[in-house]
Amino acid sequence: SKEKIALFTIFGGTGDLAQRKLYPSLFKLYQKGYLREHFAVIGTARRPWTDEHYHEVIATSLASLNADPAAVTQFASHFYYQSHDVTDAQHYVTLKKLSAKLDAQYGLQGNRIFYLAMAPNFFGTIAQHLRSEQILTTNGFNRVIIEKPFGHDFASAKELNDQLTATFNENQIYRIDHYLGKEMIQNISAIRFGNSIWEALWNNRYISNVQVTLSEKLGVEERAVYYDNSGALRDMVQNHIMQIISLLTMDQPVEFTEHDIDVEKVKALRSLRTLKPEEVPANFVRGQYAATDQVKDYRSEDKISPDSNTDTFVAGKLMVDNYRWSGVPFYIRTGKRLADKFTRIDIVFKRPIVNIFNHEDVQKNDDENSRLNANVLTINVEPTEGFELRMNAKHVGQGFATTPVKLNFALDSQSVSDSPEAYERLLHDVLNGDATNFTHWDEVAYSWKFVDTIQKYWDEHTPTFPNYQPGSMGPTAADDLLQRDGHEWIYKS
Ligand code: NAD
Repeated sequence: SKEKIALFTIFGGTGDLAQRKLYPSLFKLYQKGYLREHFAVIGTARRPWTDEHYHEVIATSLASLNADPAAVTQFASHFYYQSHDVTDAQHYVTLKKLSAKLDAQYGLQGNRIFYLAMAPNFFGTIAQHLRSEQILTTNGFNRVIIEKPFGHDFASAKELNDQLTATFNENQIYRIDHYLGKEMIQNISAIRFGNSIWEALWNNRYISNVQVTLSEKLGVEERAVYYDNSGALRDMVQNHIMQIISLLTMDQPVEFTEHDIDVEKVKALRSLRTLKPEEVPANFVRGQYAATDQVKDYRSEDKISPDSNTDTFVAGKLMVDNYRWSGVPFYIRTGKRLADKFTRIDIVFKRPIVNIFNHEDVQKNDDENSRLNANVLTINVEPTEGFELRMNAKHVGQGFATTPVKLNFALDSQSVSDSPEAYERLLHDVLNGDATNFTHWDEVAYSWKFVDTIQKYWDEHTPTFPNYQPGSMGPTAADDLLQRDGHEWIYKS
């Protein structure tokens, strides 16, 4: 049977993440039969809710799924609410009793999943009490799921990790990076290692440069206080972008297993060229959005200080110093209030050395117009999910000119809607004990060390903000970054 057996304890059970993502994802696992009779959920938070009220909240969080009301009621009956201040030791005694009771009632075999859907400053306290009050079992599995942000620099991440590892082993810790739950991010490995044409070309002999863009259209919105202390570099680059870079650059794992993939990702991250402080401005660009008639500038947003120097945009150039990638720049960019909301990866191949169709021009002068277009493989991560390949073909008609054409594959809307959402997929992985699509501590550590150098330089130098227009693709310096190398962004607004 595919049924999984576990007790979930969700710390922060009244929160936004729990209601928007976790309850719907658990319900989908229930609908698909991964969760059936043998599961229960304890939601804990400070508010004094009753179980009845909790069940109403669960039903409300599922409203958009238009599910059978009887199934919703049945599902919600597995949920128990416990009002609990995580800093109060006494509450863990109650939690332990409730856990034991539910374990017996639902036949949960000691399997426990703790989801810390709360601010990270509570992780240490929770982990410590779970151990001291002996809430971890000895007969089943114990796994803990934590959310980003994992620290705000290497030192704080290490401290957080030390707190967690005092209770849990590394193989019991599931650090969520929801990008790793996305269909097209998982597809990076499928296309690389499932197609001889790509793996054969996946190196500095054939690839000119790689571009990773995570673009957001909205401004800072409701996460203002958190975001202002973080910025785009820490919020997006340290985790999502570094993970994407490691999947793009890693060597082939021996087997497609958690351990073998982690080994290769860490090798890739360790091969990233570390920047000296004085090299930061030439390789990383930061930005902050200005105002338009329609929208406020970042510094005028609610809860943002009027002299904030937080980066709402970052672009950078990363080099990977190994045989495969030497000389190939990896350009990255992410930001708020950009032209559109999308995530894409462009693999730009080298152009043919000679243009035989326009041979004379090529010999006379190597100007842009007489050269063939580069092939570009685009991985569309979202909202479109698919691949695009730009090629040169013969222009239809008399004579012989070439013209760029596109091969296009997009998942159809049915597969997209059938495909599990990131959180559903990741919760399923945790139930299976599979941490392949989670970040491991050594990956976190290397990513922070890389990002810390840039952040430190930025903290010590005052930027000229604001420096980009809402609806653009960031400051012009982000274009100059590529132009200096003779490249340009494939996606332009
Ligand atoms: P939230 O503020 O909506 O919820 C926080 C929860 O913690 C609430 O249930 C609150 O009652 C509870 N809580 C706070 N202090 C408590 C205490 N002392 N004792 C017991 N309970 C307490 O936050 P959220 O948006 O759900 O985010 C939770 C975590 O997930 C954060 O670490 C956040 O960074 C991360 N995260 C959230 C999202 C998202 O989409 N919401 C996305 C990525 C990461």
